Amino acid sequence: MKWLDCEVDKIDDNLYSIQPPKSGNIGLYLSGNAAMLIDSGYSPRRSTSLIEYIENRFECRIELLFNTHYHSDHTFGNQSFNCPIMASQACRDTMLEIVASHWAPHEIEKAKQEDPDLVDDWADLKLTPPDVTFDDVKEIDFHGQLIKCMLVGGHTRDSAIVLFPDKKTAFCGDLVFEGTYPTLLMHDETPQAFIEALSHLIALDVETIIPGHGAVCTKTMVNKMIAYWQCLQIACRDLVGHGLADDEIVDEVTRLCHLDEIDFNSVKHNRNINAVLHALRHDDE
Ligand SMILES: [Zn+2]
Repeated sequence: MKWLDCEVDKIDDNLYSIQPPKSGNIGLYLSGNAAMLIDSGYSPRRSTSLIEYIENRFECRIELLFNTHYHSDHTFGNQSFNCPIMASQACRDTMLEIVASHWAPHEIEKAKQEDPDLVDDWADLKLTPPDVTFDDVKEIDFHGQLIKCMLVGGHTRDSAIVLFPDKKTAFCGDLVFEGTYPTLLMHDETPQAFIEALSHLIALDVETIIPGHGAVCTKTMVNKMIAYWQCLQIACRDLVGHGLADDEIVDEVTRLCHLDEIDFNSVKHNRNINAVLHALRHDDE
């Protein structure tokens, strides 16, 4: 199914996962003429079109937006929403903090120069942090539907998942990647925290997993990711112990650890190895 230029997975009559190009997935929950969205995509211009499309197609009003984490491909569409924006307090804190650094006006301009598509996609960009926050767990009654929001970390320290307990369904943000290698930026979290958050997800009574990127999947994908990170950790520890240089370690770990049936992505994979090596060397700090 396609809405505008987005692939769409229908989970049931009320739940959808929308996959806009170049963006994190956007979740949609419908209850009568009320709707909730999970993440806002990377472009205000594109989010405005999508909001209009959804509100017309389903004759609904979007009453709540949830941000799974602060990354731009999940939050830069925030300004297009005329409703409360909910997220973890850590997400709000992080967004307020990096407005002065990574997301300062000159950095945004620099990114536009590097990628000319962003000139339109980020036109009149106004960074909009969430305005309703929670610390660890927040239960919402959205027009009779129980929705459980949980801070789990893993991909970033502010990462939260959105659980629909009676549907055994979780919107996981970038804690889960489907069909592509996971992304972990060293300043965001540690590989061990990623594994622990994924294990937390496995322990939940959930069958349908909506990843931050890619198609709807199951715990099979989550287990695959856990095995990949554990393989990286074990192999790196062993090779560091044998005194190998970093480039030799990368070659050897790449031979040993990969995600089956998923296109190899050397940039993400090498970054993941470096995150594991960094954590190993700073373990005792
Ligand atoms: Zn992310």
